[in-house]
Amino acid sequence: HQDSRVALVTGGTSGIGLAIARRLQQDGLKVAALDLDRPQAREVAQEHGLTFIGADLSRRADCRRAVDETVAALGGLDVLVNNAGFQHIDPIPDFPEDTWDTMLHVMLTAPFLLSKYAWSHLTRSGQGRIVNVASIHGHVASPFKSAYISAKHGVIGFTRTAALEAGEQGLTVNAICPGYVRTPLVEGQIADQARTRGLSPEEVEQKVMLEPAAIKRLLEPEDVAALASYVVSPAAWGMTGAVLDIDLGWTAR
Ligand code: NAD
Repeated sequence: HQDSRVALVTGGTSGIGLAIARRLQQDGLKVAALDLDRPQAREVAQEHGLTFIGADLSRRADCRRAVDETVAALGGLDVLVNNAGFQHIDPIPDFPEDTWDTMLHVMLTAPFLLSKYAWSHLTRSGQGRIVNVASIHGHVASPFKSAYISAKHGVIGFTRTAALEAGEQGLTVNAICPGYVRTPLVEGQIADQARTRGLSPEEVEQKVMLEPAAIKRLLEPEDVAALASYVVSPAAWGMTGAVLDIDLGWTAR
């Protein structure tokens, strides 16, 4: 049967966000992809038949407008996937303060703002869903990623709080925590580390990134999208406040 719900996926024109947007579309939902307003992002959305919402999640007004535009374009809002994010690597003494502020805004404050502004739509749905793409770095740390790791730990706390508040309103709120996934974000990190450590990209992948993993293979965006698809599905009505790891066994040790 056809799912008539509407989803908004942030960071929806690249990597994990694009895979989730496409998967939800295959599942029958109407999907809007939010991303920074760049020609390439617009083209990707258009190519996949996704409604494009141009917005900068480091701005509060853009978060408000993104919800309004989605509702205006697709007639409602039932599923919010907070996925947009980026990485910055620097030791704490050198970490740029403005970069810290932007990262916390995009990866922690924006999920709060979008949830707040979308709340009445999500609860009206009867099958509302908020899915926050956190990270295994929501549980454990690595050096030089202080803002990213702080934001990801924070969004897990927000997920659990929102789940408690949403419980009686037919809205579930969950977090997905991937290990390393082959996306533009990770390809960039592999290239940087190969340069700084004097290793080949394959060596960085196997010896650095997958060192703590039990399964020595990067995840693909579609693997994360399959989990998101289940969380969004009507079958997952009883799963809320959950923090779902898909991490190649990284945190098993
Ligand atoms: P990606 O770089 O391919 O995609 C991220 C998207 O977010 C991009 O399209 C980017 O334009 C968008 N974005 C960034 N800043 C934005 C802003 N201010 N406003 C609007 N959009 C903005 O990265 P990805 O690897 O697909 O990551 C997606 C999410 O998954 C992120 O939250 C990331 O932290 C998380 N994650 C990724 C991995 C991984 O290994 N790739 C692992 C765990 C968690």
